[in-house]
Amino acid sequence: MPHTLFISDLHLSEEQPRITQLFLKFTRAIAPNADALYILGDLFEYWAGDDDRHTPFHLQIIAAIRKVSEQGTPVYLMHGNRDFLMGEQLAHDCKATILPDPTVIDLYGTPTLLTHGDAMCSDDVQYQAFRQQVRQPAWCANFIAQPLAQRKAQIEQLRKMSEDQKQSKAMDIMDVNPASVAEQFRSHHYPRMIHGHTHRQKHHLHEVDGMRCERWVLGDWHTTGNALHCDKTGCSFQAIGQLAS
Ligand code: MN
Repeated sequence: MPHTLFISDLHLSEEQPRITQLFLKFTRAIAPNADALYILGDLFEYWAGDDDRHTPFHLQIIAAIRKVSEQGTPVYLMHGNRDFLMGEQLAHDCKATILPDPTVIDLYGTPTLLTHGDAMCSDDVQYQAFRQQVRQPAWCANFIAQPLAQRKAQIEQLRKMSEDQKQSKAMDIMDVNPASVAEQFRSHHYPRMIHGHTHRQKHHLHEVDGMRCERWVLGDWHTTGNALHCDKTGCSFQAIGQLAS
């Protein structure tokens, strides 16, 4: 049956070769059968800028995505909090389209809102302040103007800080805020919602202003691969773990 696939939070890095291999197999064996593939953020553990796209590691990922697109499955990329510096040069090489966050699509007749999800984690005031700063075009331009090695060093430092902070932050602070979720539904006429970021794969049902809304949270690719498979009858989670090579 015609279907569309959604993935997020792969956090691909050279340090995780098993997940990289799983993603490469996914692009060969599963993704090309879909009407479209949406990657809703944090494809990469981090993206320091499009001038970093020629490393052997990045080249193999770019080639794999490009092949999906060339086989007739359009690929859409959304920025995550780790890879929001993915730019048009990367998208061009992948033959993919970068989508704004959020974007509403018509998915087999059902309006469906796609977002990475971090913007709804409004209880994490410290993170939201950081997010507001680094998402400003002027901040990005300044950052990109630095030498690549310097950018990578800074990102490594941020990653370490963020890991340390995660240990001390309460778990529920790092989840989405219910009022922020309701506001997303409300301001987009109560669509179905698909997002990632929290790594808490689950199907939620909400009632917002008397409207029943559903929200699909994508799983991460920490131990196994995870996709959301949607067709005209609905959506279901699909584990991407036992792929034949
Ligand atoms: Mn994220």
